[in-house]
Amino acid sequence: MFSEFYQIFGQMVFIAGIIILAMLFSTLILGKILIKQDRLIFPKVLLLTIDLFYGPFKKFSESMGLDEKIVDHIGVEVRNKVNEKRFKSTKSDEKLLILPHCLRSPNCEATLEPSGLVCNNCKKCVIGTLKENAECVGYKVFIIPGSTFLKKIIEQNNFKAVLGVACYQDLNLSMMKLSKFSPQGVPLSRDGCFKTKVDPKAVLEKMGITEEVSAENSSIKNISPCSKETPDKHSF
Ligand code: SF4
Repeated sequence: MFSEFYQIFGQMVFIAGIIILAMLFSTLILGKILIKQDRLIFPKVLLLTIDLFYGPFKKFSESMGLDEKIVDHIGVEVRNKVNEKRFKSTKSDEKLLILPHCLRSPNCEATLEPSGLVCNNCKKCVIGTLKENAECVGYKVFIIPGSTFLKKIIEQNNFKAVLGVACYQDLNLSMMKLSKFSPQGVPLSRDGCFKTKVDPKAVLEKMGITEEVSAENSSIKNISPCSKETPDKHSF
């Protein structure tokens, strides 16, 4: 009786293991197709695998000779695609822009308050310009040092959608937690804890602002949708 039970249990564990391995393998293949060819196939399977098996999926990727970062890269790409339509149809004044404070200039003199860094747009770094443009079209902007601040911001603000900038891992995990807010994310082009970089054009494009921007954080060319033709506040 007992030996029969253990035999069936063993078979079930074996089948479950095969199914999980098949999910990890197919998610890796489909994720690579998404990254390389911009083709999204079976997004629900991709998200299920990443969300349920986040740690094991990273280990599996490494065992396949890949950088574990690919898991977060795939996660961000899938979530961006899946949420894009709902994000765009949400009014800008119901959206938040969350920027990491590691983007600030080493000479930044802004103070850190409970709501994050209080940037006065001194023009020394990309944060000021992104903040000015985002606020101009209706976004609420927060520049934060970490997830504790993010938790408080989520609790204390009324919003329907969120745009974030962070390294792939933080972005993927935050977008996972904020999935009901149609999250969109732009990964840092240089990550770390200090003097990080982001492509400002990519952030502005997510907000529906398409102006000419230099790739260098510090040389954005006179972007100000408020002083030019202001993009429709409610149509991004
Ligand atoms: S633009 Fe804002 S964040 Fe950047 S250095 Fe100036 S005050 Fe600091």
